[in-house]
Amino acid sequence: MNYEAFFRSQLDTLHREGNYRIFADLERVAGSFPVATQHAARGKRDVTVWCSNDYLGMGQHPKVLEAMHEALDRCGAGAGGTRNIAGTNHYHLLLERELADLHDKESALLFNSGYMSNWATLCTLAARLKGCVVLSDTGNHASMIEGIRHSRAECQVFAHNDLADLRAKLAAIDPARPKLIAFESVYSMDGDVAPIAEICDLADEFSAMTYLDEVHAVGLYGPRGGGLSDRDGLSHRLTVIEGTLAKGFGVIGGYITGSVGLCDFIRSYASGFIFTTALPPMVAAGALASIRHLKTSSVERDHMHNRVARLRAALDAANVPHLNNPSHIVPVLVGDPVQCKSISDQLLDRFGIYVQPINYPTVPRGTERLRITPSPLHSDADIAHLVDALQAIWHELSIARAA
Ligand code: PLP
Repeated sequence: MNYEAFFRSQLDTLHREGNYRIFADLERVAGSFPVATQHAARGKRDVTVWCSNDYLGMGQHPKVLEAMHEALDRCGAGAGGTRNIAGTNHYHLLLERELADLHDKESALLFNSGYMSNWATLCTLAARLKGCVVLSDTGNHASMIEGIRHSRAECQVFAHNDLADLRAKLAAIDPARPKLIAFESVYSMDGDVAPIAEICDLADEFSAMTYLDEVHAVGLYGPRGGGLSDRDGLSHRLTVIEGTLAKGFGVIGGYITGSVGLCDFIRSYASGFIFTTALPPMVAAGALASIRHLKTSSVERDHMHNRVARLRAALDAANVPHLNNPSHIVPVLVGDPVQCKSISDQLLDRFGIYVQPINYPTVPRGTERLRITPSPLHSDADIAHLVDALQAIWHELSIARAA
């Protein structure tokens, strides 16, 4: 077989569909977020990033940087091993305690990413609970889907946020079988939110466990930044709350929180936890500082939500169509992969604005979009510049405008 020809033909398909991904060569500039330096063939220049998941700019927060520098100097670069073999550092334990407290849970367990925490936990739970049926929202993230799939447990996919469909599926399952409902609080591509309380009600009625991915909500919602479950006083009703340290908290890593027994069970059985080197201590120290800060400071959250409202109002005034949702994510729908990439290229080339196009398979075909994430660090002038640029491009491309 000509392997190279195979690789090339697969890539050709992506090019033909307009779904080939190109990464912008950026260098974030600490102290100047959302500005980054773009390295391009023509040289270097400053651009404004409008699609970062460092939602609150914690990746440049002085407390976070100071904690990371200090831990780097104290402990060195890497963790030195898996958690089991020499890799557990005091910072990991401090961070796990902080996370358990953040979500009002008995215990927490760290992973190297949010992806790994979903994959390993869902896989281990569903595989080890004999006869388990997983009920998974259609909109769930790839990491959850892959984890469930790898468990080989039965999985029933319920329509997105559809309580009637979830109820019907739960009611049809043998009551004696273990059941796990897996869903997210904020869905990252449409920015819509789950009916968490109602799903917990169904879980109670049908004796199911609940697994909530709060990846796009931690740090951003709730009086202490514990996500939507924190905001709505629902943490105690969820079996597992999962999150990331990479988005609202601005660093890297993932985690689950739950009962002592559940976290110990995952710690003891999940291969995605056991067989990989632990996060560097400086990373744990940075995340710890970030969480501690956001537990007591609402300044960043409040200002971010203010920026979101301001951008939405400006887009409305300029007649640029965007999905209305109750979250901080502002999706501007394009509906065509080639046009979506072209708009993104023009924003970068002509206006120095970086918004990555979101195409299949991240979103279904025909729903390609620009996913804009305002941060507390975007100024009024940044917003005006973005909206003017979008309006100009929209006009030129004659894309259908909002009614
Ligand atoms: N869960 C959801 C809903 C996500 O959108 C993502 C990533 O974007 C993840 C989990 C993975 O988190 P991480 O980026 O920390 O691996």
